[in-house]
Amino acid sequence: MPCEQTDFAVIGGGPAGAAAALTLRRHAPRRRVILLEAGRHDRPKPGEALPAVAQGLLRQLGAWTPFVAEAFVESRALVSAWADETAEQRHSLFSAQGAGWQLDRARFDRLLVQAANVAGAEVRLGSVVCSAIREDQAWRLALADAEILAGAVIWATGRSWGLARSFGARLRLHSHLAAYTRFFDRAPGEGQMVIEARPEGWWYSADLPGQRRVVACLTDPDLGVELREPTSWYRALAATQLIAPLLSSDARETAALVKSAGTATIDPAAGEHWVAAGDSLFAADPLSSRGIVHALRSGILAAYAASDMLDGHGELARSRYAMIARQGFADYVPALAAHYAAAARWDTAFWQRRGPHVQTPAAAAAQG
Ligand SMILES: Cc1cc2nc3c(=O)[nH]c(=O)nc-3n(C[C@H](O)[C@H](O)[C@H](O)COP(=O)(O)OP(=O)(O)OC[C@H]3O[C@@H](n4cnc5c(N)ncnc54)[C@H](O)[C@@H]3O)c2cc1C
Repeated sequence: MPCEQTDFAVIGGGPAGAAAALTLRRHAPRRRVILLEAGRHDRPKPGEALPAVAQGLLRQLGAWTPFVAEAFVESRALVSAWADETAEQRHSLFSAQGAGWQLDRARFDRLLVQAANVAGAEVRLGSVVCSAIREDQAWRLALADAEILAGAVIWATGRSWGLARSFGARLRLHSHLAAYTRFFDRAPGEGQMVIEARPEGWWYSADLPGQRRVVACLTDPDLGVELREPTSWYRALAATQLIAPLLSSDARETAALVKSAGTATIDPAAGEHWVAAGDSLFAADPLSSRGIVHALRSGILAAYAASDMLDGHGELARSRYAMIARQGFADYVPALAAHYAAAARWDTAFWQRRGPHVQTPAAAAAQG
């Protein structure tokens, strides 16, 4: 089986992995970087609201110009029926940070990986890393038909935590949530992100480039089993006040997926010449809308940590990185709990689990 050597291997080519590869190429241009991505970024993927604050990160990564060229939908307003049934509209004009974007995620992920390639990272699409074994001074990564020996590894496989055991890391699932998502063609909009709390959970919809639209219902997996069936999903949709009217009779469903979306963290955040980034490090509830920005930011920081590890400062890099990761989680937990508690106006299982006086496992973990 062919075996290649590299300084850095980045596993996963989502925003976290691409940001890490881009940063490594800029920070350590003499080092070899191989990015291994299981897919090809050619399928619909949820996770489309990108806050305005991402602009600075994209500039830092040298990806701002290709991002602008994609002409994603500018997010003009957030419309929500959350604390009560009245629709509230917040226009981005009144936001200090300005307008964010509603992305075609496959195109966004592709553009970042292409930018990493242009910056000199060797990008291998369709390359699934099956296992990682620590040997002497390197990590041996097993692919289906090849092996890679890497000096340091950035682990950025999103919510696929199959490599946790290889790195000796423990996954902590703080809450369960599932997103029952459908994509539509011929469903134009005006650059609005729409969110609506419902007895069974909450719904969101955003119009995407090319008159496409995503619509998702988020609820606990034990409560949402029926939503896998189109009839139940469309029946629940019909009961929404703000979301259902966004789909005219012309709209045509193009894809349906179910994704896990609860809060999870990995412990430790980094180890012997490996660093976790993005969702693999800390997967946030989509209500927080912070997943992509966190992925970009942690990808950048993970690259610096991995680089320090190869330069012989592993201990310091690990402890500093773990401290930053802990702080991010500690800030997130109370903000998310307050957000849910504000909408807990039904006596249903979903909202009973998120009421104002409920001590969630995530809150306990953040305090501990
Ligand atoms: C329903 C839903 C809605 C969301 N909405 C938003 C939103 O509006 N705004 C927002 O900011 N965030 C949102 N998020 C979160 C956001 O999508 C994620 O936080 C973000 O994609 C994380 O980026 P990542 O690079 O860490 O992981 P991913 O984007 O998941 O990328 C990981 C990559 O690793 C690859 N991979 C996996 N295993 C392997 C392997 N063994 N070998 C090689 N490659 C592998 C995968 O193919 C994938 O491309 C949402 C999430 C969900 C589930």
